[in-house]
Amino acid sequence: MHITDIPVKSYEKVVHCHDPRNGLQAIISIHNTILGPALGGLRMWPYTTPRQALLDANRLAKGMTYKSAVADTGLGGGKAVIIGHAPTDKSERLLRAMGRFVDTLGGLYITAEDVGTTVDDMVIVKQETPHVVGLPHGMGGSGNPAPFTALGVFFGIMTCVQRALHTDSLKGVRVVVQGCGNVASYLCMHLHEAGAELIVTDIAPAKAQRLAQQYAARLVAPEEIYDVPCEIYAPCALGGTLNDDILPRLQCQIVAGSTNNQCLTTAHGDALRQRGIVYAPDFVINAGGLMNVALERTPEGYSAMHALSKVQTISHTLRAILDTAACQDISTQRAALLLAKEKLAKGHSTQAREGGKPSSKREKDDSTISVA
Ligand code: NAD
Repeated sequence: MHITDIPVKSYEKVVHCHDPRNGLQAIISIHNTILGPALGGLRMWPYTTPRQALLDANRLAKGMTYKSAVADTGLGGGKAVIIGHAPTDKSERLLRAMGRFVDTLGGLYITAEDVGTTVDDMVIVKQETPHVVGLPHGMGGSGNPAPFTALGVFFGIMTCVQRALHTDSLKGVRVVVQGCGNVASYLCMHLHEAGAELIVTDIAPAKAQRLAQQYAARLVAPEEIYDVPCEIYAPCALGGTLNDDILPRLQCQIVAGSTNNQCLTTAHGDALRQRGIVYAPDFVINAGGLMNVALERTPEGYSAMHALSKVQTISHTLRAILDTAACQDISTQRAALLLAKEKLAKGHSTQAREGGKPSSKREKDDSTISVA
């Protein structure tokens, strides 16, 4: 079992984890712990090169820092990625080996489920380390975060609808949902109940067909989704779709979905604004799952009621970001980053005042959360 430091500018700690006996190659990226230990999911994905895995872990860890700061969870940002194809490569041995690596960091990084891992996988990881959340309800945990993520996205969509469409109703509003996985399933349920007209797609046809049938949605091929005229584009798949190629194709008034790192660069947030599209910054609107899971770390422990009231704050935060963007004539993405950095700066000065050893480099990097 080898753990090797990888120096990355403006990141607190990034390590390469290698355990050939158990077939494990992974990266743990800790971006910032000014506000608390770095919490972020454990992703399993068939990256084609270790560099791709490193870039993904880093961009996701940075996004978690901003998400946690804006959501007031008292936590920092981190992420772990395992290189592998979850359906075929995931095993108890591999997950336990990963748990041992997480444990060596002594709580600086707290892991949880993510794309390619599940609540049951976290039970296995727990056998090796206490630094894991997203456990089943039966173990005092918060369970599957997806319903809370989806509810937060739904609240965020309603806030954008009030702003851009000047209505409180989703009756007849066309919503394009990209990806029909965990979060999208719950989101489609809320949207359908509220009267929206759904258009769905997934690279896994069976998943798209299931949602289409359940919610009388129109099915579209994955490559056609960006050209569909609609009021709302809700990305619920993988990041980076708001880029030079896709942005000009969008025929919507609102972009609001659960995907992490939707904008390829901060400039793409500006481009959305120039096109008059109201964009709900991803790390604001998709924080419901994080809010839910973070409650496992509170002295009172997890409560679904408490989680629900936290998730409801997403509407208020998003409204404030839309207001800042309008007042300062900037994109909503920049307004959200400003808010996150304000909270990080406050955390840094509190730490300095209390004489605590700053656990992280000051967040001064203005670079974008771009994808590899
Ligand atoms: P998931 O793996 O259950 O669903 C993702 C779906 O997207 C899959 O069905 C996949 O086949 C599909 N997909 C991938 N690429 C696609 C493409 N190009 N076109 C169409 N479909 C495509 O994941 P999830 O848990 O539902 O999460 C969805 C997104 O939301 C991810 O980006 C995730 O990081 C983000 N997110 C999830 C949570 C959560 O609570 N699960 C929280 C915050 C953010």
